[in-house]
Amino acid sequence: AHRDALSAARGPGRTQDGTSVALLVNLGGAADLSAAAAADSEGVGLLRTEFLYLGRTEAPARDEQCAAYGKVFAAFSGRKVVVRTLDAGADKPLPYLGQGEEPNPALGVRGLRLDRRQPRILDEQLAAIATARDQHDAEVWVMAPMVSTPAEAAAFAARARSHGLGVAGTMIEVPAAALRAQQVLAGCDFASIGTNDLGQYTYAADRMAGELADLLDPWQPALLELVRHAAEAGRRAGKPVGVCGEAAGDPYLALVLAGVGVTSLSMAPASLAAVRLALAAHTLAECQALAEMALSAEDARHAREAITAGANPIT
Ligand code: PEP
Ligand code: MG
Repeated sequence: AHRDALSAARGPGRTQDGTSVALLVNLGGAADLSAAAAADSEGVGLLRTEFLYLGRTEAPARDEQCAAYGKVFAAFSGRKVVVRTLDAGADKPLPYLGQGEEPNPALGVRGLRLDRRQPRILDEQLAAIATARDQHDAEVWVMAPMVSTPAEAAAFAARARSHGLGVAGTMIEVPAAALRAQQVLAGCDFASIGTNDLGQYTYAADRMAGELADLLDPWQPALLELVRHAAEAGRRAGKPVGVCGEAAGDPYLALVLAGVGVTSLSMAPASLAAVRLALAAHTLAECQALAEMALSAEDARHAREAITAGANPIT
């Protein structure tokens, strides 16, 4: 039993009965790179690339981007790195994107929608990612933020492939994309659910509004319902559907996410150990039963309490 506990403390994420749930890290810039690479993960599930674009008067040149991606790919050599293309707009406006003032920036031209105005930005970024990938040994996937329709997902995947990037997916962080996950997945290779924005848009509650924190609770049943719907579409299509929002780093919620069929969880490096241990302490059937409990709870608080009380001890 001691040896089991020790082996559960390291290595790939899996349930007690061996269903794999890949454990990955979220990475937001070069500063956290060495700590993230040293953590025991299967790779990067979300490389936020905004850091390259912020605080400048023009978009970073292709060479500069290529060097920055190359550093990440080198640090994660032999592992997976999911690069998310630029998610500017909303809370992260950039002067050179010509976004101007928007009355509702969260509902405006952000993420992949910027491509409607400035297609060159995405092409430059995909070209830089592809060049850096060719110089390193990481397994590089790309995905787009703020996809709302199956057509956007398919168009992004086609763009990525035109740059030689063969594994292209979309984030599911808009309820419309979650509801149509089957059609979204038909046109791309994988999906990654961003529970931060998916919660914001499902509950119509600005994620920056502290006084609405109860509506933004990642245990909200309507959010979990959308996650389950997308995960089931992934299972039917035989395509990976992960979670890369903050929800993935809560060990109890991770059990629920595994129970609805999510195939990977991407989180802050500090959360990896607790999530790994939680998974190792439960069979898939136990995770499924916990997911059933969470989804039938009347609200977020009851869901959290029921799963915290019903889960096996996590130590
Ligand atoms: C999300 O929306 O859940 C997400 C992971 O993306 P970001 O937090 O960068 O918007
Ligand atoms: Mg998001």
